[in-house]
Amino acid sequence: MSGMVGARRPIVAGNWKMNYGPTEAHDFLARILPDLEAIAGVDRVVCPPSISIAAAHALTSASGVMLGAQNMYDAEKGAFTGEISPLMLRGLCDYVILGHSERRALFGETDELVNRKALSAFAHGLRPIVCVGERLEDRDANLTERVITAQVRGSLANLPADRLNELVVAYEPIWAIGTGRAATTQDARDVIAIIRALLDELYGEAATAGVRVQYGGSVTAANAAELAAGPLIDGALVGGASLTADFVTITRAFAEAKQAR
Ligand code: PEP
Repeated sequence: MSGMVGARRPIVAGNWKMNYGPTEAHDFLARILPDLEAIAGVDRVVCPPSISIAAAHALTSASGVMLGAQNMYDAEKGAFTGEISPLMLRGLCDYVILGHSERRALFGETDELVNRKALSAFAHGLRPIVCVGERLEDRDANLTERVITAQVRGSLANLPADRLNELVVAYEPIWAIGTGRAATTQDARDVIAIIRALLDELYGEAATAGVRVQYGGSVTAANAAELAAGPLIDGALVGGASLTADFVTITRAFAEAKQAR
C-alpha cells in the first residue's frame, strides 16, 4: 500500500543552493562526511552547485553518501549556454533536483519544462527529486490542493511506471522555504497525502508504493525529529541547514525515526 508506514527508505538531501565553491565544498564535506557516513538506514544526498560537484565527488565516491545536482537541462548537448546536461552529471550524481521553487519563480521554469527534465533524468539513469509547493497566497485562498494537483499532473506526467521507485517528490511550500517558518507536521502530511493520492490515480498504487515524498521548508536540527516521527514524510530536502553540521543531526533524526517504527 502506497501510504504504508516504514515501507520506504527515507532520503535526506541537502540543497546547498549557490553556496560553497569547489574548495569550500571539499572542506565542508571533509568535515561532515565521517558522521554522515556512519548513519545507517537513510539515503544521504548532498547537492552542491554544479561547479563543485567534481570536488565533492572526489570525497564521496568511496563513501555511502550520494551526490545530486540542483538542476539540469533536458537535452544531451548543444547550443544551450550556461546549462548542464544529464550526460555531464551521469557518473558523478545519482540524483538531480528539478523544478525547485527558486527555479520556477526566478528563472521561469514551467511544469512542462520540469516534466521534460524529469523524463530526461529517467532516460539517463538519474533519479529526479521533483519539487512542488504552493505560495502563501494560494494557501490563504484555499488553493493549495488545486496548485499541487496542477504541478503534480504537469511535472510528473508520462514517467516510466515501472521505475517510479527512482522518483522522489519534494513537497516544499514556498512560504516555508528560507523563512524559518516550517509547515506543521500535520500540514505537511496532509499535502503529502494529496500528492500520493494523485500519483496513485496517475500510475496505480502498485507502481507508486516506492515513490518517496520528502518535506522541505525550514527543516532544522530542532524540528527534524517531529517531522520524521510520523507516517508519510519519507525524508527532507534541506536548504539553509544543509550548509552546517546540522545536516548530520537532521539526517540522524530520520534514521532514528525509521528505527523506532
Ligand atoms: C530548499 O531550498 O529546498 C529549502 C527547503 O530551503 P530551507 O531549508 O532553507 O527552507
